[in-house]
Amino acid sequence: MVQWTKNPIKKRVWVALHFGGDNDMANRRLIFWVFVMLMAGLGGQVWAQEAEPGWRVGLAAARITPDQPIRMAGYSDRTQPSQSVSSDLYAKAMVLEDGNGNRALLITADIIGFTERISGPVCKRLETSTGLERKSILLNAAHNHCGPVILANPSLLEENLERPFGEVQWKRVMDYNKKLEDDLVRIGQEALRNLKPARLSRGAGVAQFVMNRREFTEHGIILGVNPRGPVDRTVPVMRVEAPDGQLLAVLFGAACHCTTLDQDYVSIDGEWAGYAQSYLEHKFPGVQAMFITGCGGDANPYPRRTLALAQQHGRNLGAEVERVLAEKLKPVRGPIRTELRFLDLPLQKLSRQEIEALQTSDGPDFFAKHALKMLAQGKTLPEHYSAPFGLWQFGQDLTLVGYSGEPVVDYVAFTEKALGPLNLWVAGYCNDVYGYLPSARVLEEGGYETRGLYVEIGLFASKVQDVVMNAITEMAVKAGRPMPARMARQSPKWVPPGGATPLRVASNSN
Ligand SMILES: [Zn+2]
Repeated sequence: MVQWTKNPIKKRVWVALHFGGDNDMANRRLIFWVFVMLMAGLGGQVWAQEAEPGWRVGLAAARITPDQPIRMAGYSDRTQPSQSVSSDLYAKAMVLEDGNGNRALLITADIIGFTERISGPVCKRLETSTGLERKSILLNAAHNHCGPVILANPSLLEENLERPFGEVQWKRVMDYNKKLEDDLVRIGQEALRNLKPARLSRGAGVAQFVMNRREFTEHGIILGVNPRGPVDRTVPVMRVEAPDGQLLAVLFGAACHCTTLDQDYVSIDGEWAGYAQSYLEHKFPGVQAMFITGCGGDANPYPRRTLALAQQHGRNLGAEVERVLAEKLKPVRGPIRTELRFLDLPLQKLSRQEIEALQTSDGPDFFAKHALKMLAQGKTLPEHYSAPFGLWQFGQDLTLVGYSGEPVVDYVAFTEKALGPLNLWVAGYCNDVYGYLPSARVLEEGGYETRGLYVEIGLFASKVQDVVMNAITEMAVKAGRPMPARMARQSPKWVPPGGATPLRVASNSN
């Protein structure tokens, strides 16, 4: 029985689709036209996908190897300036422009980490000279421990550490940092001028040398080897090719410290991330290979301590990326939407007594010493640290989450839980590396990653993970990531694992 409606077209279509009605001929005609309309609709969709304006990609790079002996970053007990160069360091830029003209700029570099002291002015200068907004710029460093010192917040570093390098080295470090800032601005501008039509696709491989380094001992957690500990061994890969299929660039990642070489090594070197990039650039001449660090705050390469091992890890990673590039990859389509938020990361509120208790042999000395000094000067201790977090959404195909700081591996699981496990690229060491970004679990267990801010004063509170994940969830929704079904049913809200996280004083065993 046909239900009459006020809409005669609806009724006729209903009749037509059910092969019935009084006038067979008229209905057949209608069926034909409905069929044509449906096909036109489907065809239009197919056509829209195929003809969807593709990407334009612009590339540029600069050699950033220091040209004089310079104080090196990463190990506080390495006080000797660099004696030689065993491999060059590079900064690289890639601009992505979608079919609607939305642009995003990625800058990577073989350095210990970007700090706001560099990222802030670089982004400001790029915004002024190119119109590119800060939220569309992501800086990611390889966390290379064989590069030069990168300056952190000026007032605290200079006040607290009292120019520890001596005047000559201090000036050299300042000059290097200024030149680095200029180089980064220049390659950003160059990449914007070099835009060419391109297609993006992605895949993933495995990094075998990534090892959890939080070793549990009778004397607490040390920086060692923990084969049972969690790590993210994913090697995310993005292929950038010309419309004719020619490879133009490759973006790849791994979640691990660049610490094969230890404090005894005093040559400038690109470490395994540098060797992986040069492997790919030799295999594919003319191609720009760029490395993005993941959430490797608690991961070291394994084994380590020789240059041959750094080269071996790099070769193995490069070969794995090469293998993935030859596979059938998934398309990455636009539009691109970028988000950036500065979050007030909560710091522990501690009494003078609690801070004094941390001054024991295994406490976080740096924090306790400077916190007590500040209190003695009548200053109040900060309760938050403002840190930038980024997120790039590539159409429906991929979400790149850019955590700042040195996130421990738990942030990969948190991201999967909050945003769903598919179509993710989880990066750490973005925009500002101010210290380890611990989870409540790590803070409770203790260990090196609980040491707090490097040059500013503060230890992260365990609720830091909830503050971060709430914001990441909101940013993903705003950027248009298709969220898991449970997210669509309720208001998007991060639920911490195991419920609320207790506030707890961290201990430090290193
Ligand atoms: Zn580190």
